[in-house]
Amino acid sequence: MSGSILGYARPPPYEGSHVSDRLRLMCVHAHPDDESSKGAATMAKYVDEGHDVLVVSCTGGERGDVLNPRLKHDAHILRDLAQVRRDEMAEAQAILGVQHTWLGFVDSGLPEGDPLPPLPEGCFALEPLSVTTEALVREIRRFRPHVVTTYDENGGYPHPDHIMCHDVSMAAVVAAGDPEAFPHAGPAWQPLKVYYNQTFSKARVEAFHQALTALGEESPYAEWLENWTRPDRAVTTRVECSAWFDRRDAALVAHATQVDPDGSFFRVPREVQVQVWPTEDYEAALSFVPIAPDEDDLFAGLPADVQAADALATSGTLTIVHDTRTERDS
Ligand SMILES: [Zn+2]
Repeated sequence: MSGSILGYARPPPYEGSHVSDRLRLMCVHAHPDDESSKGAATMAKYVDEGHDVLVVSCTGGERGDVLNPRLKHDAHILRDLAQVRRDEMAEAQAILGVQHTWLGFVDSGLPEGDPLPPLPEGCFALEPLSVTTEALVREIRRFRPHVVTTYDENGGYPHPDHIMCHDVSMAAVVAAGDPEAFPHAGPAWQPLKVYYNQTFSKARVEAFHQALTALGEESPYAEWLENWTRPDRAVTTRVECSAWFDRRDAALVAHATQVDPDGSFFRVPREVQVQVWPTEDYEAALSFVPIAPDEDDLFAGLPADVQAADALATSGTLTIVHDTRTERDS
């Protein structure tokens, strides 16, 4: 399918087997919309700079709630949320200019209540790790990313699909480089760097809170900050991408069922964001090339020549030089 959505050219369909002369970034996410709230401006920037970017959505977001009050009672949406979310994802994809593929697993939903209800049968979080890992290994060996982003071991927030997204990503990046692992899923390919998205840091929310307060405006973040329990993470890499914040916001709004356009996400004026926090932030978790202090580029440290980077990823002689993987908090 070609053509345009909202004036943005639709990228060519992702056809899998991938040999290109560009550096390649794969961003693994749990649900459609996560790609637009975590690292979207970074992706649009890399696309514009001539790199290949592939978003992998592990699930279809079938069990999401409709979070936009204006669409809560829309009969079409209630009847076929899964299709609506596929359409929303296609729109966000066009806006960001990325390639996209579905891993094909079913949303686990966010269990609520005390005690928590069991997860629904057949959902992503209950799939055996070997099954989800093989599916992602196949995508890694097709797209051949030099760099992969995912979530930290706690999922960034405790949705079972976000935690599974971490587990499957970390298992797959290691297995993809091992020719003995899943030999039917394509020739071995070792992603050279793996990052966790760390956009939602306390420091950033605090900076926005203070900026709004200084402007004499009401901050929607006071309660969030008061109840903050998530420990600070070691951000290693800050990608300046403020020129792409408009694309990030447009992509997020394209997920119309999932986003309240009047919600706290959009309360900080663009110029304040650009001034106060112009970067999207990442934590290097695993790398076969050194991570420089104050890194500002996810591709930093890789051979500038793509063929040399490809040769490195298939050399079979790599050693891990940066490894901060840890056990999940219980
Ligand atoms: Zn999600």
